[in-house]
Amino acid sequence: GGHIRLEGVRKTFDGGDIVACDDVNISMDGGEFVVLVGPSGCGKTTTLRCIAGLEEPDGGRIVVDGEDITGLKSKDRDLAFVFQSIALFPHMSVRKNIRFGLDMKTDLSKAEKRERVESAAETLGLEETLDRKPAALSGGQQQRVSLGRAMVMEPAAFLLDEPFSALDANLRDHMRVEVKKIQRRLETAMVFVTHDQEEAMTLGDKIVVMNDGYVQQIGTPYEIYNEPANRFVADFIGSPSPNLVECTVERTASGVTFASDFCRIPATDEQAAAVQDGQTVVYGIRPEYLSMRDDGGQFTARLDVVEPLGDRDAIHLTSGDTSLSAVTPQGEVSRDRNEVSVAMQTDEAWLFDEHGERIV
Ligand code: ADP
Ligand code: MG
Repeated sequence: GGHIRLEGVRKTFDGGDIVACDDVNISMDGGEFVVLVGPSGCGKTTTLRCIAGLEEPDGGRIVVDGEDITGLKSKDRDLAFVFQSIALFPHMSVRKNIRFGLDMKTDLSKAEKRERVESAAETLGLEETLDRKPAALSGGQQQRVSLGRAMVMEPAAFLLDEPFSALDANLRDHMRVEVKKIQRRLETAMVFVTHDQEEAMTLGDKIVVMNDGYVQQIGTPYEIYNEPANRFVADFIGSPSPNLVECTVERTASGVTFASDFCRIPATDEQAAAVQDGQTVVYGIRPEYLSMRDDGGQFTARLDVVEPLGDRDAIHLTSGDTSLSAVTPQGEVSRDRNEVSVAMQTDEAWLFDEHGERIV
């Protein structure tokens, strides 16, 4: 179970003036961890609420396990929603909070309900807290209680809307791993919404990148990172952001080069075959494909800042009027240097056309 398909889903507000999402086509397998990621306001929550039945789409269909559920009420959908804010009942014990949705179900025996609550508590490591009130729990434990509340419903899929956004960074990292483990154990589909590209990369089996109401790309974390469909995806995924430099294609008898205000980069055969003389392209390359040398690189740059990231350093450079970033192994580039020669691994570069679509 848990195979969810969105077909051309569109949702507008204010009589059509605000297009929250449009032409959303996503196919999710049962047991898959799908992350919707994109900047604030891009339509993630609206898309998730359409799946949940909390919004009615203006167009398109939502199909779960082959059944069109577009017209079905939220409570009749076999899906559990975990909200951004942790909405526990303060006067109820953890046990009652977890059991809350189950109590609405008349077709389950008392023993079955107890069994489900205890099993969820065990999975979530909440056995010791069952008789406490939410206020006596840490933020992470409270978020696990809200997960438990969804788990006991044994839904075909979980829908989670930025469930960790209220947690501090350490706890968020911990909860990511916990949720991923739980999902592996339950083998239930999860649709997880976040604006955080790093969270998306660490959690998703499949990542759906959205911008401005439209799906930009769907793929595995590696596909999204290595083969971005367009300039937006390239820029949004990965930190530090990739270098994106506007260039003009120059084709001469001696070959093809990409000319920018600060350098001329020779094209690879594949790149050369995809462009025309005089064309404007954006040359994109991730920071890890730039390396610093004493000389012999493709251009020189001023070394502005060396930012330690742990095992690696982010190097911030300026060449001409262009800011660039590189990532190098820890300590490889001395902070004392003013100028470096930069070599790029040109076969790892992307080319985007004037509309931002990737051509190589
Ligand atoms: P995200 O979750 O990616 O931040 P949302 O789905 O919440 O984005 O919002 C997408 C767009 O739709 C935004 O422009 C937002 O202001 C608008 N929107 C969302 N819900 C409503 C609503 N109930 N009424 C009017 N506009 C809305
Ligand atoms: Mg949202």
